[in-house]
Amino acid sequence: PLPIVAIVGRPNVGKSTLANRLAGVQEAIVYDEPGVTRDRTYMPAYWCDREFLVVDTGGLVFDDDTEFLPLIRQQVMVALSEASAVLFVVDGQTGPLPADEEVAAWLRQQSLPVLLAVNKCESPEQGLMQAAQFWELGLGEPYAVSGIHGNGTGDLLDQLIAHL
Ligand code: GDP
Ligand code: MG
Repeated sequence: PLPIVAIVGRPNVGKSTLANRLAGVQEAIVYDEPGVTRDRTYMPAYWCDREFLVVDTGGLVFDDDTEFLPLIRQQVMVALSEASAVLFVVDGQTGPLPADEEVAAWLRQQSLPVLLAVNKCESPEQGLMQAAQFWELGLGEPYAVSGIHGNGTGDLLDQLIAHL
């Protein structure tokens, strides 16, 4: 089976935009799975001869006993259960928020590789400053990217495949 990269993060940080960008906006494959009320979409992605699946966890809602958990925690649990690596997306325009710290705390306790994408960094100069704010999450180097414009995604993909 192909390695799975799970994309997690607060609503509106640009997870879906970035997922589509990384996958080159190819047709999404939809799987029906028991216990998940919404279909989960896995998008095939290719980079430097490596193939993997990107899963945008943003729309997941569960039927089982994880139902009581906040959405963001459900996303993290999905990521931990099936992914080879996690792409944690944050918003460079808002800077780190308490919800980001909460997710980071969960992710730091796991052994999965985590890459930190600081999205909405359209300007290369500002992007460096915006990304630097996220060192405090304790997840290593923050990568400045723009899902909309595509800048920074090559470096991010290089790092991603190195961890698969
Ligand atoms: P999600 O809720 O995390 O999946 O976020 P979406 O991908 O739906 O995007 C949320 C909002 O952020 C939308 O209005 C997008 O147009 C915007 N957005 C997404 N990526 C970028 C980006 O790279 N730069 C900017 N400036 N806005 C973005
Ligand atoms: Mg989304």
